[in-house]
Amino acid sequence: MVESQASVGVIGAGLVGALVALGLAKQGYTVTLYDRRSDPRTAQETSLRSINLAVSERGFRALRYVDEEMAERVLEGIIPMHGRMIHDLDGNQESQLYGLFGEAINSIDRKKLNQNLIEEIERFNATAKFKIELIFEAKVTSVQVNGGVTINYVHAGEPRRDHRDFVVGADGTYSVVRQSLQKLIRMNYSQEYIDMCYLEMYIPPGPDGSFRIDPNRLHIWPRKTFMLIALANQDGSFTSTFFGPWKLVESLDSPKTIEFFFKKNFKDAIPLIGLDKIIECFTTYPRGALMQLNCSKYNFEDKCIIIGDAAHSMVPFYGQGMNCGFEDVRILLELLEKHRHDRHTAFDAYSESRAEDLKAILKLALRNYHEMSSDVTSSIYLFRKKLDGVLGRLMPQHWIPLYTMVSFRSDISYADAVRFSQKQEQILKWAEWGAVGSILAGTALYLARRSK
Ligand code: FAD
Repeated sequence: MVESQASVGVIGAGLVGALVALGLAKQGYTVTLYDRRSDPRTAQETSLRSINLAVSERGFRALRYVDEEMAERVLEGIIPMHGRMIHDLDGNQESQLYGLFGEAINSIDRKKLNQNLIEEIERFNATAKFKIELIFEAKVTSVQVNGGVTINYVHAGEPRRDHRDFVVGADGTYSVVRQSLQKLIRMNYSQEYIDMCYLEMYIPPGPDGSFRIDPNRLHIWPRKTFMLIALANQDGSFTSTFFGPWKLVESLDSPKTIEFFFKKNFKDAIPLIGLDKIIECFTTYPRGALMQLNCSKYNFEDKCIIIGDAAHSMVPFYGQGMNCGFEDVRILLELLEKHRHDRHTAFDAYSESRAEDLKAILKLALRNYHEMSSDVTSSIYLFRKKLDGVLGRLMPQHWIPLYTMVSFRSDISYADAVRFSQKQEQILKWAEWGAVGSILAGTALYLARRSK
């Protein structure tokens, strides 16, 4: 149990905020959870977006850390994806496995996961002495540090203020808590929009509710500067996302240009989505922007800390944004447990230990766009990948492919994964040069013998 029932305001009841609220309450804190949206369990869906996410080992581990049984419940119905399915221009499909030993990342509906986490809060409240207070439609406008922390927010049109011992900001990319924190500390901060727009489309199930393409693969139509992907949903449908530069998307401004573009680049996706739907999507659906946001440090004394997208917003190409946010939760809870009577030390240790890892995953996420949209069709990449896999299978203790370290090994930090993979890449390069050298030497020897 924790220091004298300290009270905490968690700002943001998204994926990360809901999980940290549960974790803190289980450690004995008195938690109030604020979100500007209405309750996701009852809210009418106003957006056309229905993103599904890939959850992998770092996410699982954090959920299990908070509660093993809860993890099972909230992840019920996830669909394992054991690899990528690459669709070429002619509609041929080629499978590329992710793991060496059957590992998989898993598709889950983002909204459903959020609803499940809020349900878990209600389940916790049903038996807990100190319940988690949920305040929806509460737009936080600032937090102010004094003896504790004052949370200023607007609820039902009325300005309100609550006082808590500390706050955790899990209020996403445009975090208000981060803005307040920036006034308190010398925070390094950078934000960059990537020239990439995304649009979501829906692939309905087959007539009998069946999957029309393999549900256990992440489908990719890689076309170098743009791509289409699709992840399966439980009901036989898929959520498909188009990623491309803004200029390209803006140039696709009439049914004719859209039809020509899709027939040229994604012929086999047309019968899956439907041409009318594709045109409707490109002309009327909301377009998403992608941004990389990095900052450090993440806390002010023992009063305020930011986690999740509020602290690190990354492009979605490694499928790690939420997984990394969940890992933030686990690491923060572990440190609070370790320094249970000294929150300031726990928060400082969090900021110190997390910065390098977050920087590493942000870079990896950006780099992975090239891998997904282009490298996956290059023969050099495929050769290296094969060699990487062979070495990983032969010497699993000594050779671990980067994707495996990031997605399936939560015991290896992101920064260590990068360091380790750089060494392996160097060895692979030497091996390639060695192979080229041997071929050249062999050819020279052969020619020399023939000319004698
Ligand atoms: P958010 O989900 O943004 O939640 C923030 C919450 O704070 C919201 O509920 C919001 O209403 C609330 N809020 C904001 N401001 C205020 C305020 N002022 N007052 C009160 N409440 C406020 N990640 C993966 O791990 N795997 C994937 O496969 C993956 N795919 C993705 C695909 C796309 C296209 C995109 C865009 C992202 C993807 N991500 C993926 C990233 C993932 O969606 C995010 O990292 C994750 O949702 C971050 O969760 P969060 O709780 O930190 O922030």
